[in-house]
Amino acid sequence: MRKAAFLDRDGVINIDHAYVCRREDFEWVEGVLDAARKLYEAGYALVVVTNQSGIGRGYYTETDFEALNVYMCRMFEEAGAPLAGIYFCPHHPEKALGQYKVACTCRKPQPGMILRAAEEMAIDLSQSILFGDKESDMKAAQAAGIPRRILLGKDGLEAPQTTDAGTGVSRSLATAVAELGL
Ligand SMILES: [Mg+2]
Ligand SMILES: [Zn+2]
Repeated sequence: MRKAAFLDRDGVINIDHAYVCRREDFEWVEGVLDAARKLYEAGYALVVVTNQSGIGRGYYTETDFEALNVYMCRMFEEAGAPLAGIYFCPHHPEKALGQYKVACTCRKPQPGMILRAAEEMAIDLSQSILFGDKESDMKAAQAAGIPRRILLGKDGLEAPQTTDAGTGVSRSLATAVAELGL
């Protein structure tokens, strides 16, 4: 069993321009690759868990998403922070089209993506940590049994507020990792 650092994508890894699906629009949040390397070196498997209802809404395709993943993975790899996995939810219960319009168990705040990753990669969730920029990220982590949850400021701009005493806060992944002493 290994421990993992679960990372939300939009607003944590890249600037959340809404429905980012092209490399030209993929703008890195400052310091995120360096912070990811520190987590990797501290023994955390790096796992991205991301809601991508833009697929279900018909704004872009799974193929577009996978193509962007190739670029994102390469950049993480080159930074010394290889990703162990990328899990995404293409669904939306109301706004998606066709087969994607479903009340699934993977769309955060549901814990499905995290639970699937844990099973497929033998991750010890009790030793893991999740970083996200929305309360729905925190709720998914809590539902999955991840004890350490850190709410980050969207796009790394400013530390957010939370009413949940079990949730830590920090401005960005870079500041959070520094505060963890990594
Ligand atoms: Mg986000
Ligand atoms: Zn889903």
